[in-house]
Amino acid sequence: MFNVGIDLGGTKIAAGLVDSDGNILIKRSIPTARGRHYSQIVRDMADLALEVISKGGASLEDVESIGVGSPGAADSKTGTVIYYSGLNFKDVPLAVELQKHITLPVYLENDADCAALAESIAGAARGTESSLTVTFGTGVGCGIVLNGSLYGGFNHAAGEAGHMVICCGGERCSCGRNGCWEAYASGTALASQARRAAQASPASLMNSLAAGRISGIDGTTAFEAARKGDETAVKVINNYIRYVSEGLINLINLLRPEAVVIGGGVSQQGDFFLEPLKELVYSGVYGGENLPRTRILAAELGNDAGIIGAAMLKRQALP
Ligand SMILES: [Zn+2]
Repeated sequence: MFNVGIDLGGTKIAAGLVDSDGNILIKRSIPTARGRHYSQIVRDMADLALEVISKGGASLEDVESIGVGSPGAADSKTGTVIYYSGLNFKDVPLAVELQKHITLPVYLENDADCAALAESIAGAARGTESSLTVTFGTGVGCGIVLNGSLYGGFNHAAGEAGHMVICCGGERCSCGRNGCWEAYASGTALASQARRAAQASPASLMNSLAAGRISGIDGTTAFEAARKGDETAVKVINNYIRYVSEGLINLINLLRPEAVVIGGGVSQQGDFFLEPLKELVYSGVYGGENLPRTRILAAELGNDAGIIGAAMLKRQALP
């Protein structure tokens, strides 16, 4: 049997036909074309689901469910997107609307939760019962799997790990507080840390890598220059790893998962990023070497995690 996973985003909708082991047999994506009424967006999602089913050589009878990962707050019990500002979604009855077009069970979850579920079942944390998947991108997202189940909190809004304060009175955050982890550890924050440092040190390799354009410097530039031994970039990366570690230590102290999966651009930096990060985390976490270690792993499923996790939501549903 197969399941269809749909990853709904602010700019594109991606769907895939997924087998029971979490392999995507075929996937397709289309622009979301925001600004439309939700019924039109859901119709496109239904068409895309039917397309991957037929192009994947399956029929409706071979498909158990359609799972949808949505940004924002999603109520998995009612299949409703409670709120997502990017598409002006408020109390959108997504499951009911989708079933107007396809007569299959529909499951809905937040997209970061879908990614965490995928990594916990078919990705880096497979075989674990409890894991966190933390994604460092525009912000810092976190999906929580505890005892084999997604944890969303009573109102489906849990996991906002990016808005834990790691520096009281520190950098302003988009949420209104100061010193949030996200303001230091997101990909966006790393890019601005790198730009500031490059501006202050004109001789830094980061400037030449970006052909002298400060706006062309991002996190990848800083990592590339640091790998080549550029002193300024090494400092930026060391500080950044320290920021990432502070939040991870908080999360591990609180939840003690078996594994923390690191997603986002930094996960592609491999051991250059992960090894010093592990050293800081393991030396700072409560109990030190006296307690079994939480494994820290790079995400394995990349952009496909959303589709795979959505397709696996059926396993989370209570009978
Ligand atoms: Zn914040």
